[in-house]
Parts: sequence; structure tokens; C-alpha cells
Amino acid sequence: MPYYVTTPIYYVNGEPHLGHAYTTIAADVLARHMRQRGADVFFLTGTDEHGEPVAQAAEKLGITPRELGDKNAVRFKELAARLNATNDFFIRTTDPEHMAKVAEVVQRIHDNGHVYAGSYEGYYCPRCADFKTEAELEEGNRCPIHKIELTIEKEDNWFFRLSTFQEPLERLYAERPGFVAPQNRYNEALAFIKSGLRDLSLSRARLKWGVPVPWDESQVVYVWIDALLNYYTALSYARPGEDLTDMFWPATVHLIGKDILKFHAVIWPAMLMAAGIEVPEKVTIHGYLLLGEHKMSKSLGNVIEPFQVADIYGPDALRFYVLREVSFGADGEVSPEGFETRYTTELANEYGNLASRTLAMIERYRDGVVPSASAPDRLTADFEGLADVVKARIDEVELTAALDEIWRRIKRLNRYVQDEAPWQLAKDDAEADHLDQVLYTLAEGLRVVSVLLHPFMPGSAERLLEAIGREDLSLDAATLGAVEGGAKVGELGQLFPRVEAEAPAA
Ligand SMILES: [Zn+2]
Repeated sequence: MPYYVTTPIYYVNGEPHLGHAYTTIAADVLARHMRQRGADVFFLTGTDEHGEPVAQAAEKLGITPRELGDKNAVRFKELAARLNATNDFFIRTTDPEHMAKVAEVVQRIHDNGHVYAGSYEGYYCPRCADFKTEAELEEGNRCPIHKIELTIEKEDNWFFRLSTFQEPLERLYAERPGFVAPQNRYNEALAFIKSGLRDLSLSRARLKWGVPVPWDESQVVYVWIDALLNYYTALSYARPGEDLTDMFWPATVHLIGKDILKFHAVIWPAMLMAAGIEVPEKVTIHGYLLLGEHKMSKSLGNVIEPFQVADIYGPDALRFYVLREVSFGADGEVSPEGFETRYTTELANEYGNLASRTLAMIERYRDGVVPSASAPDRLTADFEGLADVVKARIDEVELTAALDEIWRRIKRLNRYVQDEAPWQLAKDDAEADHLDQVLYTLAEGLRVVSVLLHPFMPGSAERLLEAIGREDLSLDAATLGAVEGGAKVGELGQLFPRVEAEAPAA
């Protein structure tokens, strides 16, 4: 079963920030979860290095666009590694293989009769690298995203007949109600299509930094056309000596932020249709993480900077927090104190302490061997069907809901240990079987939640599973009672140690 997940390629005119980390984390959760299910996964991320904004940012710094790309692509690669992301490839749109493939596909769109020469006049946002319609403009002719005042620009260039794809796109949306998720974004994209599509300029005459238009080398391919094609081109050269296109195309899911909905849900499928290439299965849109008003936190200062959080608290804590705090798909507020609170109450106390207490009791009362027993019916019932529910949530890319299901079981195990008070049972020899049952159930419950948590917090889940002597990550065994006692437990240490760091100077 092939499964191909992508993040947008990140624009190298700035440094990586929490928003980039968010999408990469989400894509990695999908990739890791699907590998647990035995899928053949390909996970792609990378950098978008062409276009006017990069050329402008480089000019400001007094370096070439290539130098800026080289410098920032490294940072984005480091971010993926720091987050423990398991991307199979990191594409850069300056890769010669990508550029050659872009020229090839654009030529196909041209040869199929979807391109003509024309001139365009309209409000242009240099930071979006996009013309805006009158309807999109905010008061004072401002870009709705960048809030800067736009001026009217005129250009002679090559046009893509996007308008002729209105009907095919409407058909696509009618036939595939899951093509764009969540539903409100599907509605938004469909309304945009139904409002009437204007042809799209496919090239830029004023700019030199990009892929030359194959039949007119005086122009470069519009940066968005170039960038969108990365999802397709990467497969042709990501693995040396092999073309993975037949295996992984069409993509299973493109994860994106809502600001680039129009490009992915309208222009991208139209381009693919024009080139005679299958459209992706699904485009999933997440919201924004908003940094609200809040007081300075002790360890993080007043921002959530992904490298800093990962350095102080480890990547798992950041991965957990962003998916736990804000319901995936919606906008929501994050804050350094919110992070610290969840770190302490949920990660350190509810999960970390439960694990260390359980292991300590197995060590003390049962010489470090998980006793053989069976879980009580009420616990088995509370865990019943958990793996299937998590799978279903993840198939819908409802990552917060999936995490919620798992966390409810962690809370359940905490209640169980309080109710049963194994430290009391240990004082009474008549309760030996009962104590066996409690310790077995705790170890087994921790195993199940950790297998399911693994995509979210791979490092911590792996350490815990190793400590309880059960390292199998397959979801088939993620049911309470699937594994018998008898394992020798090991050292775990603190999964989420207390952090005493001082805030950096702001
Ligand atoms: Zn803009």
C-alpha cells in the first residue's frame, strides 16, 4: 500500500519558524503512523528557492539568490532533523533535476494547447508573488495576507488557460467530496472556483531567477507553477537510479496552511489535468498557531521558537504540544506558559510519572519481571477498539482527535493506579494475584498507548517501550492484552525531566 505525504516547500526568503515546524511535525506523524500500518511511505519536504521574494531578499542582503537559498535551505533541513522528522527526501527547487522536469511538464501543458501569449494588468503583491483580484484586496488596495499596499503592474507573458478548467474542477469536487479537507476549506475552494476562474500568468518577464520557459527563454516559469510541481518532480529523482513516480503518484495527502489553499486546491489540480497527470487524492489544510498576549515564561521567553524548545525540552515535547493544544485544522492560540503547563501536567506527570512508577513497582515487587496475568474486564473494555479509532482519526488527518483518544487512556491508567493502590496491595500476601493483575495491566496499558503515541513522540515512546521490554511498533499488537507478561523491565530514567533553564535575554 503506497502512501505519499508532503509538506509545502518552505520559502527560503526567511528563517524557519514555528509555522514551518507545525506542518513538518504533522506530516511526520502521518508518515510514521502509516509505516506502523505497513504502508510503503514516501514523505517529502523541502525548500522553494525561486521567485521575486527570494531575489529581493537576497539583494537586500547583498548576496545572490543562490547564496541565500544555500544558506536557508540548510536551516530548514536542520529543522526537519531537529524535529526528528523522517522525510525520505528534501527537495530544493534549484535542484537541476527538478528544473528539468518542470520544463518538461510546462512544455506538455503548452503542447496540449493550454498556453497562450498575452498581457496582464492587475494588483500585484511581490511578497505573495501573485496578482490579486479586486475581490481579494483589502481596504486601500492591500494584500489580504501581507497588508502592504499593492500597485498595478502590467506584464506581457505566457498564460495558462485556467478558466477552461472551471468545469473539470467543479466535476472533480462533485465526484470527490474528500478532495479538500476540512469541509469549510472544501467549500471555500469550491466557491472560489464557482465565482469564475481567470487565466493565470504562467511566466514572468521581469525576473531572471527561476526555470526558463522552454519555448521562450527570455522568461522564467512563474514561481508557483515551479513550486507546485515539486510534489511530482521529486519522485523522479529522489532515489538515485530509480523513478518512484509510478509507485507513489498520485500523492495521498498534501498538507498545507490555509494561506495557500487557492494554489493547491484550484491551480494545482488544473495544471495536472492540463499536463495529463492524475490529481492528488487529498489536500488537507491546517490552521494557524497564534501567539496571543501572555506573560514571559521562565524557560522560553515570550516566543515558541522551535529550535530553542527542542534544545531545552526535546523535540517530542514540541511535537506533542502543537498537536495537543490546537485542534488540527482550526486556528488556535499557543503560548510559552501553555507549553510549560502541558509539559508538566501531561507529559511529566500523567505519562512520564505513570511510566516510572509502574517500572519501579515491577522492579520492587516482582524482581523486575512483568507478571503474567490478564487485564480486568473494565479496563479491557475502556481500551477496546482504540487502535481502530486512532487509525480512523488519522485517515481523516484529525491528528488532535487521535492524540486525544490516546491521552484519555493515559488518564484512565492514572485513575486505575490510584484506585487500585498497588503499594497497599503489596503489603498483603493474600493480594498477590491482584497485584500481579494491576502491574501487568499497567505495563500492558503503557505499552499500548506508547505504540500509538510513537508517531507523535517517537523518542519518548521508544525509550518507554524499550524499558518495558516490548519494542514491537506494529499496530496489530496495539490492543490491551495482546502481549503476555514475562518481560524483564529496564531502566527508564526521567522521560520528561524538570527544566530549570532561565529565559534568554529578549
Ligand atoms: Zn501578499
